[in-house]
Amino acid sequence: MSSATKIKSGSPIEIMQQLDIDPGPRNYELFYTYSLGTNSKLNQAMEPYISGKKIWTETAADDLYYQYISDGRLSKILDTTTREMGDELKSVMKVLDRAEKDAANYEKALEGAGGELQDVSDPRSIRDIVDHLVKSTATMQKRSQELESKLSETNKQVELLQGNLDRVKIEAMTDSLSGLSNRKRFDEVLKQEMKKARESGKSLALLFCDIDHFKRFNDTWGHQTGDQIIRFVSSTLKRNVEKNHLVARYGGEEFAVIMPITKLSKAKDIAENIRGLIERKKLVRKSTNEDLGRVTISMGLSLFRDTDEIEDFIERSDMALYKSKQEGRNRLSVEENASQEQAA
Ligand code: GH3
Ligand code: MG
Ligand code: MG
Repeated sequence: MSSATKIKSGSPIEIMQQLDIDPGPRNYELFYTYSLGTNSKLNQAMEPYISGKKIWTETAADDLYYQYISDGRLSKILDTTTREMGDELKSVMKVLDRAEKDAANYEKALEGAGGELQDVSDPRSIRDIVDHLVKSTATMQKRSQELESKLSETNKQVELLQGNLDRVKIEAMTDSLSGLSNRKRFDEVLKQEMKKARESGKSLALLFCDIDHFKRFNDTWGHQTGDQIIRFVSSTLKRNVEKNHLVARYGGEEFAVIMPITKLSKAKDIAENIRGLIERKKLVRKSTNEDLGRVTISMGLSLFRDTDEIEDFIERSDMALYKSKQEGRNRLSVEENASQEQAA
């Protein structure tokens, strides 16, 4: 592409305009990071899109974001935490090393005193020996106090760092806008649940949801209000599924619910209930109190089959969702041939 050099040097917005890419927050963050040039792996992965070899899609944006931005940020926190733990341990090793040397010296002093005491005729030499022992003992006491306080300080520090690590782990699995599990966590849990279902023979349902005409909504009210809607749909989903279900933000305005040990009829009821709750909710713009009208969602549901790879299972729910879109939106479709009930 002849304009490639010009494109690369433009502002993020200019680059996006030239490529006709919607300037949503995620896209903006990607192109902004690209324009900084600080994340070479991301830049490399984005080149084919910039040069027009590949077409930009929401899925591509999601993948790039997860792979090169959210992970990069988290691995930086992990690196820092690991380094801090290492430094802390090094300083404990130093104190221990000193204490060990002092203990060896103390032992030597005791041994020496023992030998000298066997042959004492001069009371002054006894005083020297005792003086030396008192000094050695005082040093040992000081060192062991030092060691104790250093160890308790380290304990606190390590607990703090452990807490950081736990937070990073949770953050790595959570979508920041909605607070739901992210795609990574979704993939992990779905694999686990498929394995469990295969072993137990119990029913496992997978529900996909997508907000209807969300682009229109964004275009009318702006991305911030769009984000408010994503949060509303997220919390409605989360509040109305069973405790053992996992709700994830699968992509921009797409959600997925993994429903272990849930029969088809139960999964349908849950989905229909959520669809109705969303459809009936009168939405108000938080910043201005304006009436936003209503949003609806389309849904697709399928049941796990023994022969499924993860892609097959996802594909069937996605196909059912597509059917809902085709048939007019704001509805639930169930995959074909899913009427046979499995043991739950
Ligand atoms: P359909 O009923 O066929 O699903 O139409 P749609 O407009 O909802 O679907 P489309 O996939 O064309 O558009 C989805 C839009 O969602 C495009 C993108 O701007 C928007 N979007 C994706 N992620 C976010 C986000 O995090 N915040 C906001 N505000 N919008 C987002
Ligand atoms: Mg969509
Ligand atoms: Mg949509």
